[in-house]
Formats: sequence, structure tokens, C-alpha cells
Amino acid sequence: MSRPVAVLDIDGTVADVRHRLHLLDSDSPSKWADFFDAAGDDEVLPQGAELAHKLAADHDIVWLTGRPARIMELTRRWLAEQGLPPGALLMQREGDKRPARVVKLERIQELQYRHTVVMIVDDDPRVVRHLREAGLPVHQATWSPWTPRHGNEDEVAPGGARYLSSFQNGDTGPTPPPSG
Ligand SMILES: [Mg+2]
Repeated sequence: MSRPVAVLDIDGTVADVRHRLHLLDSDSPSKWADFFDAAGDDEVLPQGAELAHKLAADHDIVWLTGRPARIMELTRRWLAEQGLPPGALLMQREGDKRPARVVKLERIQELQYRHTVVMIVDDDPRVVRHLREAGLPVHQATWSPWTPRHGNEDEVAPGGARYLSSFQNGDTGPTPPPSG
């Protein structure tokens, strides 16, 4: 009855976050909240949107993002405003400080109990590597203007991008965002 599932990331896959990366370079204690709150102003990434529409023709879409659940309504509104295909929206739960790659693998494995996950699209090289190592079918979004393309952080120009990548993967770097 249900169709095969395609799991899509948001930031760096369909959303262009460049305009808010500078917020992560500040010393403000609210910088992570400010960074996520600004997500409503993201431009859509056309390559990501095109792929999402193609997939939606014969897949159920699940949006899987490291964004905090706190901005769920903002994120739902943004997806709708961009005309992106509707789907379940899975976000980082409040207080969950684990790296994005760990949380994403867990959420996908939960999906697999009841669905056939045939495609995952994500721009973060370390998320991509982690999911592939678990045997999952991952298509890496390479069109993001700011993501480290080859998993080499030294290539990344803007400081904010390094911060974001570090945060999402939980390896080093900045203080994690507040849980509240
Ligand atoms: Mg991403």
C-alpha cells in the first residue's frame, strides 16, 4: 500500500543557509537560537527542490533534519512556502545533543521497521559516510554552496560552515546549541 520512502535532509540540501552562517561566528550565548530562528529567510536550493519533486512522484517523502524541534512550525511553513513536497518531518528532539549522523541513522532505522527506505539525500560528508557504512543508499547533495564537498574540512572557506559541520557531527568545536 505505502510507497517506498525517500529521506531528505533540509539545510544544505534544499535550504541555502549562507545568509545565517555569520550568526555562528558571534560570541552571543544565543547564537545557535539566532541561527535556527533565521531559517525562515532561507532561499531554496533549486537542485535540491528539483530532486525532491522528482522523488515525490513515486516515493513518500520524509524530511530528516538536525534542526531542533523547537522550530518545527517555522520549518513546516518554509517547506510549504517553497512548494516542496509534503512529508513527515523528523527533527532533533529537545535535549538530544548527539551528533547528527548518529541521530539520523537511528531515525532511519526506526523508519525501516515499517517502510522501505530506498533513498537518502544529505549534503554532509560525514553523515553520508556514516549512513553508507551502515549499508544505506545515500545520494550526496553536492550543490550546496557552503558544504565541504569532499569531507575535507580544511577546504571550507566560511568559519560558520566549519562550526555548523562540527556541530552537526559532534566531533569538536563549538558549544552545542541550547536545549531550551
Ligand atoms: Mg544538511
